[in-house]
Amino acid sequence: MNLIVLLKKIAPYVRPYRWLVIATLILTLIGSFIAQVNAVVLDRTVDAINALVKPEGFDWSKAANILTIISIVLLGKELLAAIIRYAQNYFGERMRILVSKDLSQAIIDRILSYRMAFFSRSGNETGKLQTRIDQGVGSLSTTVQSVFIDLLPLFTSAFLALVLMFMANVYVGLTALFIVPIYIIITVRQARRLKGWRTNMRRFREQKSNGVVSIIESMNVIKSFNREPIESEKQWNIQTQFTDNQMLVRKTSFYFDGVKSFVQQVGTVLIIILTAYLVLIQYPGMTIGKIMYHVMLFSNVTAPITQLQRIFDSLNDALIYAEGFFDILEAKDEAEPSGTYHPETVRGEFEIQGVDFTYPNGTKALHNINMSIGSGHITAFVGLSGAGKSTIINLLDKFYEPDCGCITLDGVDLREWDTKYLRENIGLVLQKNHIFEGSVEENIRYGKPDATDEEVIEAAKKAYIYDQIMKQPDGFKSRATALSGGQQQRIAIARMFLKNPPIIFLDEPTASLDAVATEQIKASIDAIKRDRTVIIISHSISQIIDSDVVYALKDGRVEQSGEPDELYRKGGVYKDIVDASARSLNIDKLAHTLDTNGDGKLFD
Ligand code: ADP
Repeated sequence: MNLIVLLKKIAPYVRPYRWLVIATLILTLIGSFIAQVNAVVLDRTVDAINALVKPEGFDWSKAANILTIISIVLLGKELLAAIIRYAQNYFGERMRILVSKDLSQAIIDRILSYRMAFFSRSGNETGKLQTRIDQGVGSLSTTVQSVFIDLLPLFTSAFLALVLMFMANVYVGLTALFIVPIYIIITVRQARRLKGWRTNMRRFREQKSNGVVSIIESMNVIKSFNREPIESEKQWNIQTQFTDNQMLVRKTSFYFDGVKSFVQQVGTVLIIILTAYLVLIQYPGMTIGKIMYHVMLFSNVTAPITQLQRIFDSLNDALIYAEGFFDILEAKDEAEPSGTYHPETVRGEFEIQGVDFTYPNGTKALHNINMSIGSGHITAFVGLSGAGKSTIINLLDKFYEPDCGCITLDGVDLREWDTKYLRENIGLVLQKNHIFEGSVEENIRYGKPDATDEEVIEAAKKAYIYDQIMKQPDGFKSRATALSGGQQQRIAIARMFLKNPPIIFLDEPTASLDAVATEQIKASIDAIKRDRTVIIISHSISQIIDSDVVYALKDGRVEQSGEPDELYRKGGVYKDIVDASARSLNIDKLAHTLDTNGDGKLFD
């Protein structure tokens, strides 16, 4: 990415604030003129005071007159300059903040519109996306400020001072003009030299903060293995590299700053010598006041240029980060596909024929899948971890598209379905449902934002969580994240009741819960399963044997399918899994323990 491309890409984000840019530029122009006032006043003052000095004494009233005028002009100018500086800073900052807000919102809206495959691609992992977005927004908005608010004024000021120098005397102007390019060349070299190290600095900073986060997150593992020294050493290495790099940056910056200062001083000395010479040879219009005048003008030329360094740095950062940022913002073919099919009602009959599927990272997860999932039935997917059960649900929810084969819902190809409408009609309960920061009520209402309070309460009751919510100090206003895992899972189920979809996918809904919570949740799951198309993925035998049809999967293939008892009798993958589950429960001993009454009844 080069500067022109970069500017073209950010221009649309600056356009809404063009009046802010124009206002700032006008103020800057006035500011640039005002900045020259000091030099002009000093020039006149020195000459006027000089003219007053006479061997027989001076005229008090004339001196007072001059001093009054100087005071008024200088103070008035300073007041005006302060107001302009304030407006300039405020407008510049306002623009940076607003552009940053728009860029952040634009990328969030884009990301929300992308399909799941985008997030599974390598390079798009959460942490990496977040870094690219944060740094992209930060560096681009700073660049907007540097380029549109700071850069032009800088050159205007320098240019104006240079013009005044030429107007005062051509030779003086030429001397300044000779020094300025040298100054700029040194600044550009400095920026180039520092570029690589600055990029490294950023990388080390990321590693450092990632390191601290990962240490804090894994504290119990580190401590239990006594691996504190290893972690400390890892950090030490990063710190050392970071510090070495930091030293290099500082050393080089100081070196270049010194050279620039010296060049500036050489310019000042040349201008003093030249003006003094012109005064001495009594060049027309050259008075002693001009020495001061020229030196001040020259500092007005170089002062803004010293800021070039900062602008170069920000542009450099922007060029580094813009690519990653715009890759996300402008990712092609990542928008979620959608058809237009939007029937009145959804029956919920899925047909999967000859479906293969490969994840974007190359993992082939499904091979030639054929399934019929009946409306109003409970279908269970069983199989070891990684068999492809969740992947099928991902395809049915249109999170991904199959490589080949066909999936239909109620006889219509899934691709033709309006994606939003399809998802309105599907409820998904996962092993760990995401509970958002916010109240219990807000979390339940997520299932239907316009639900009435009564509907929310009704949903909570159906999910068998109402009584427990009411026991919380703030009832429905309590923080949802403070609830236990089992309670959160039931909040997610209440959310589903409120959404009330005809199709439900339950992906290991009780896997992360203890036995008591599982038993409690079973009641809410049994309630939600009624009269719907339900697909349940579970390792819990109790939930599997409740199903109407079972599909046993292995390595991305359907090995067996049918009614659970019949499948068990046939033997094979399903029987192996059920037997293994029973053995893991230690059923014989369990039965013995439960039968301590000796009355043949397992439970009281
Ligand atoms: P199950 O639900 O049966 O445990 P999954 O459907 O989650 O299995 O996974 C099937 C295969 O696909 C596994 O090999 C898994 O590693 C892979 N997989 C799952 N999700 C992704 C993903 N987002 N990106 C890449 N590979 C994935």
